[in-house]
Amino acid sequence: LVLEPDANRRIQEFSVPTVPEDGLLLKVELARITQRDKAVLSTERMTAAVIPGCIALGYVQAVGQKAASFYEVKTGDRVVVEPFTTCYRCKPCLTAKRRLCAHKRWYGAGFPLTEHPGLGGAYSEYMYVRPGSRVHKVPDSWDERAAVLLPEAIWVFGALFEVGQAGLGKGILIDAPTVPGLLAAALARESGLQPIVMNCDDTNKELATRMGALRVFLRGEKVEDLPENMPAPDLFLVTSCDARTFTSGVKALVPGGTVVVVDTVDGVPKEIFQYGMKKEIAFKSISGPGWDVKGARNLLEKRQYPFAALVTHVLSLNDLLGTKWADKWDWACVRPGAPLKGRA
Ligand SMILES: [Zn+2]
Repeated sequence: LVLEPDANRRIQEFSVPTVPEDGLLLKVELARITQRDKAVLSTERMTAAVIPGCIALGYVQAVGQKAASFYEVKTGDRVVVEPFTTCYRCKPCLTAKRRLCAHKRWYGAGFPLTEHPGLGGAYSEYMYVRPGSRVHKVPDSWDERAAVLLPEAIWVFGALFEVGQAGLGKGILIDAPTVPGLLAAALARESGLQPIVMNCDDTNKELATRMGALRVFLRGEKVEDLPENMPAPDLFLVTSCDARTFTSGVKALVPGGTVVVVDTVDGVPKEIFQYGMKKEIAFKSISGPGWDVKGARNLLEKRQYPFAALVTHVLSLNDLLGTKWADKWDWACVRPGAPLKGRA
């Protein structure tokens, strides 16, 4: 799928590139439509034509010798690719904070179609995985709908524990039952925290509970009214935001609590920072997956959480030519080719 500078979408065929020493060619099994991808797809003007899509699960079709030893993969392995490339030479890259690399480039919008060898996005039968990527092997036994969530699970794990410093028994308030929000609920529950999910509706209330939420609030319900046996939250995780939710979440925190924004959000009202300063609230963010993979990997191996339910639609590239899925995109994935069976 090609997204033109004028926001037109079309399907185009390319020849499969040969893979240099430091490159990897991925046969895409399933790609996520994250909120970031959704923003790219709904943009009105791009600087260059691109193939959208930043997170892909697939099989290694071909891999150069250097890339094979760097990523510790071989042809036929099933892998997920993190959403950006970095330089692996600067200080953030060398101190396990590669998400802060100044040379970070997101797959999808960050790689113009014309940049050799092309195929820089996940909504394509093949994706070219460039030097400076991060790739994780996943077992064939994992449901594809769980496996494709690994980069986002690593990301929210970092939000909770690396940036948020969440501690045992603490209350964790999550702004909405988004995919990252529900992954965070499950991670929090697994780690002995007390997750609370805001802004649920009748259809996803039960899902939020199955994903580990100890308390759910429906849209419009005041979060300040927590049951007595539940501690006021220490941490407020923001995955998708409007001004009202942001304000009521910050006000529900204990004094000295922490807000962690996952990626970036619009609509944060300025006044709340004044309130936050009086209560010693720390405002933080995390701009990509952290370094620690184990927590996220352990979570996705657990059978008691309905991860597959976090993918409500699997779309074809042709489906993406239309815009009818706009409302549900956060819950959708893309399957660019025919279903893959077993190894490539
Ligand atoms: Zn770097």
